[in-house]
Amino acid sequence: MTDKNTRTFSFEFFPPKTPEGMEKLRATRSQLAQLKPKFFSVTFGAGGSTRERTLETVLEIQAAGSAAAPHLSCIGSTQESIQETLETYKAQGIRHIVALRGDLPSGMADPGAFRYANELVAFIRQQTGDWFQIEVAAYPEIHPQAKNAQDDLANFKRKVDAGANAGITQYFYNADAYFRFVDDCREMNVTLPIVPGIMPITNCAQLLRFSDACGAEIPRWMRRTLEGYGDDAESVRAFAQDVVTALCERLLKGGAPGLHFYTLNQAAPTLAIWQRLGLPR
Ligand code: FAD
Repeated sequence: MTDKNTRTFSFEFFPPKTPEGMEKLRATRSQLAQLKPKFFSVTFGAGGSTRERTLETVLEIQAAGSAAAPHLSCIGSTQESIQETLETYKAQGIRHIVALRGDLPSGMADPGAFRYANELVAFIRQQTGDWFQIEVAAYPEIHPQAKNAQDDLANFKRKVDAGANAGITQYFYNADAYFRFVDDCREMNVTLPIVPGIMPITNCAQLLRFSDACGAEIPRWMRRTLEGYGDDAESVRAFAQDVVTALCERLLKGGAPGLHFYTLNQAAPTLAIWQRLGLPR
């Protein structure tokens, strides 16, 4: 059971493509910074497609006084380009990374030097020792490309054995899957913190599309209720807030070591859940 004072809360952003998006993100960040998260993380496009924007966004967050962790995905990359990115991060005083495999962009056939995230974690440790705190992805509802649940769990353990310090999960709406995953990890002596990833629901169509692609399950009762609301945005918002707040409550009561919010660069949905959970500001 995690002590209330040692819980880790973090907020994820994606690097905006336009100056307007960057401006909007500044406003989101300053609202969410008031909640004093342990860190903000910034996603990284597979194949290095957002390398500069990810770094720029992380540096802005740091300059504004908050801790920031860039994601780093390795698929489609060479060892040299990953090494160069690690050196840049190090030179900028960045000490925290979310290390991922990523998904090969359509049209790109060569997976590059790293096939799986455990190889990236091992490479980071080999190149930079203990400089970085490394987070890796975990899948309570099983990664869509895994052969089965047991294999996926063994693959998660490979990342831990390679030197990861903590896990952040793919989002899910079924708390039992998370608790089961953590229990299975503990049985394999995998003891690192595994922080649940939380996706507030704002846009139903987008969520359903996203979830099919990444293997996160929207329970039938939720899907059917959301469908029933159709274009009634206010009912969707109220229902989604209830469901996600109840999920967070259950996770924290059950001993989750914190929460990682996929904010999609919006402050309001996360703030509303935060408030309803009665978390400190
Ligand atoms: P891996 O851990 O390598 O696993 C991928 C698949 O391969 C799994 O099915 C696993 O079971 C299997 N596998 C793993 N190792 C082996 C092995 N040695 N032998 C055989 N099979 C193996 N994507 C981005 O592009 N950019 C981001 O910034 C980003 N951020 C994310 C943040 C979080 C918290 C999460 C949960 C996901 C994020 N993703 C991101 C998505 C992620 O890149 C995809 O889910 C991707 O498909 C898998 O990445 P991974 O690091 O989990 O891969």
